[in-house]
Amino acid sequence: MFEDKDSNKNQSNEEKIAEQKRASMGQTFKDRQLIQQRLADVKHKMMVLSGKGGVGKSTVAVNIAASLAHKGHKVGLLDIDVHGPSIPKLMGLEGHPLDGTENTLYPVKKGDNLNVMSVGFLTQRRDDAIIWRGPLKFSLIRQFLRDVEWGALDYLVIDSPPGTGDEPLTISQLLPDLDGAILVTTPQDLAVEDVRKSISFCRQVNMKILGVVENMSGFICPKCGEVTEIFKTGGGKRMAEEMGVPFLGSIPMDAKIVQASDLGTSFVEHYPKTDTANVFEDIIRPILNLQKKEQEQS
Ligand code: ADP
Repeated sequence: MFEDKDSNKNQSNEEKIAEQKRASMGQTFKDRQLIQQRLADVKHKMMVLSGKGGVGKSTVAVNIAASLAHKGHKVGLLDIDVHGPSIPKLMGLEGHPLDGTENTLYPVKKGDNLNVMSVGFLTQRRDDAIIWRGPLKFSLIRQFLRDVEWGALDYLVIDSPPGTGDEPLTISQLLPDLDGAILVTTPQDLAVEDVRKSISFCRQVNMKILGVVENMSGFICPKCGEVTEIFKTGGGKRMAEEMGVPFLGSIPMDAKIVQASDLGTSFVEHYPKTDTANVFEDIIRPILNLQKKEQEQS
């Protein structure tokens, strides 16, 4: 009797789990449909990833978005770094109020061609900390993808938190048509090892890798212009070759990058036509090629 009862109970538990799985798959399917409708006029979507924090991922994301916008493309920059959203600070938009209705959030305009949405706009004060558990992160990212009204965009650049956690995984589930990821590393071994994990992550979730960027690659002395290799250079490039992914360029450690971000503007906008700004021209080439390929096919 008891055995029967237990096995029934187990069976019904298994059924419940299976049902939950089916429901969540259905939910994800429904989410994807709603997101697809909302992003119907967004031509290309890409994510900027890094193996660890502090390597300049958000700085690279901002400058990629600004470089594309500077070329006349309509660009959206979405910051889903829930633990340390730095885009509002880097773009001079800290404390900017959000505008929206029940099911729609409007991004914040930064110049003619660039619109920004950040999880940082949801926290009122700079020091606010929210404890984000996995499901809460999933809901937030889903809401951002489903509710933000970008309008027609050529490119949506998504700044993801460092590592291979819930956020990039959620993006890969909810945006199966993502064009790919740009991976940012610094040249020293520790950072390069971590970005290898990001490459494996992308491969596991079938996310295309647009390329690797090596940031803080040598220090340019602001007085004499001499280059010092503080973190060595070339680690990112070697690793990209070894792992068979494109290498997009090396950005030096440049005091002007910090100055620009402290001023709340992108480096490429503030210091165009410099050697460092030219590196961003190389970095965005595969992104521009996405549109070229599309035009050739149509
Ligand atoms: P992450 O997103 O990887 O955590 P951030 O983009 O927020 O890193 O950059 C961290 C800090 O490093 C910022 O103050 C930024 O201005 C600075 N930084 C980023 N890249 C460079 C660079 N190439 N040269 C000088 N400072 C940089």
